[in-house]
Amino acid sequence: MLHYWFVSLSLRIPTSAWLTTTHMDQIKQILIGSKLRPTPNRIAVLEVFLKEHKSLSHGRLQCMLQYEIDRVSLYRALIDLVNAGLLSRLIDSDGVAQFHYCKMQGNNHDTLTPHFKCKNCEEIAALPDLPKTYMQHISAFGHIQNSRLLLEGICLECAKSGSPVKW
Ligand SMILES: [Zn+2]
Repeated sequence: MLHYWFVSLSLRIPTSAWLTTTHMDQIKQILIGSKLRPTPNRIAVLEVFLKEHKSLSHGRLQCMLQYEIDRVSLYRALIDLVNAGLLSRLIDSDGVAQFHYCKMQGNNHDTLTPHFKCKNCEEIAALPDLPKTYMQHISAFGHIQNSRLLLEGICLECAKSGSPVKW
């Protein structure tokens, strides 16, 4: 009898609610997998990055969140995600810190993955790694501590659609 009740109750839940719960669980698992407690702020921030595939500044991210997070708490959530290797932080040519989700986790100093950012749609993509021999070669100049490389331009999609170029 009790079992029957559970079945009939679950059937009334709309499909979208199930999907949302699954999506939320995946975000929580990503955070737990990176040894971060899945706090509401971290979940909300990571959710935007997983949905958008774009580089986002602190200010832009604040406008895109489902609910309001104060500046300091948002900054703290971003830094936690960067330190855990889930987000990457790059400074663009305007001197603004841009954050994006990185699929490759951890700080691997043996390889260098440059990124390309479209100045128009702000989409960011990982470019092929530079060869290991390059990293070995430049190690002769000193110990590399920051190996973030950002190339900027206009993506092919934006170039094709003839979107106005922002420089
Ligand atoms: Zn573009």
